Amino acid sequence: MTFRTRFAPSPTGPLHIGHAYSAIVAHDMAKAAGGAFLLRMEDTDLQRSKAKWDAQIIEDLSWLGLTWEEPVLRQAQQLPCYDPALRKLEELGLLYPCSCSRADIRAAMAAPQEGVDHDVYPGTCKHRYMSDRQTGDALRLHLDRALDLLNDKDVSFTETGGTHKGTHRLNPELTLKTIGDVVLSRKGEEIVAYFLASALDDITQGITHVVRGEDLFDFTQIQVILLAVLDLPIPIYHHHGLIRDDAGKRLAKRDDARAIAKYREDGASPSDIRAMVGL
Ligand code: GLU
Repeated sequence: MTFRTRFAPSPTGPLHIGHAYSAIVAHDMAKAAGGAFLLRMEDTDLQRSKAKWDAQIIEDLSWLGLTWEEPVLRQAQQLPCYDPALRKLEELGLLYPCSCSRADIRAAMAAPQEGVDHDVYPGTCKHRYMSDRQTGDALRLHLDRALDLLNDKDVSFTETGGTHKGTHRLNPELTLKTIGDVVLSRKGEEIVAYFLASALDDITQGITHVVRGEDLFDFTQIQVILLAVLDLPIPIYHHHGLIRDDAGKRLAKRDDARAIAKYREDGASPSDIRAMVGL
């Protein structure tokens, strides 16, 4: 199996030092294994994703000396590709329409971040059927049913990152309590949510190792559940530690002072950046 990994930023802000670390770790792992490193723009949030951030991220990654083997995949340019998976989930009875507020849904569709609470959906629309779906409704995963479907299957995934290294089984109780019925799509606007788009693209791009920050570790359960109900292979995961500020907080996109572009302006070199993140 040739090692294939990716860096999958959402172009909703500048590349900061935490992202750069993630990209370099994935890139270096691929090179060390004689494998491939790919770049994927997770730009399905059509309002917050901006061409200027997409271009800046590419410029900063190139400046850092990273190269990727294939053309950049932009999710927003291939939205219909996610439809067959949504249809299959619907056929399996694993989706229901949800008309809860746009703000709630928007928050639920973004990639989760440490320090930003992930609200477990209270199930207001859970009684609804796909047959009474209205334009603009979101589609949610009926998590209990998905877990029931996988009940007699031995679903697990391998983690090679430090803190969580080992084999992990599905943890239905914890997933129901802490993640819940995530939004997978808002059909009226043809938008597919992070959880589904990212998991599917890992498979279509032939990713063998998903390398990313450990803030996404808990949410891996949902992605593994989605892949398992869709009968798709499950990649190996590697969640690395996060670059934190002096107060121990994960760096967020709004920490512009930590943007690679800012370090470049101040005269830092790519090797200074590597040294700063301990590589
Ligand atoms: N697009 C996600 C983010 O920027 C990362 C997704 C992933 O690596 O799985 O937070």
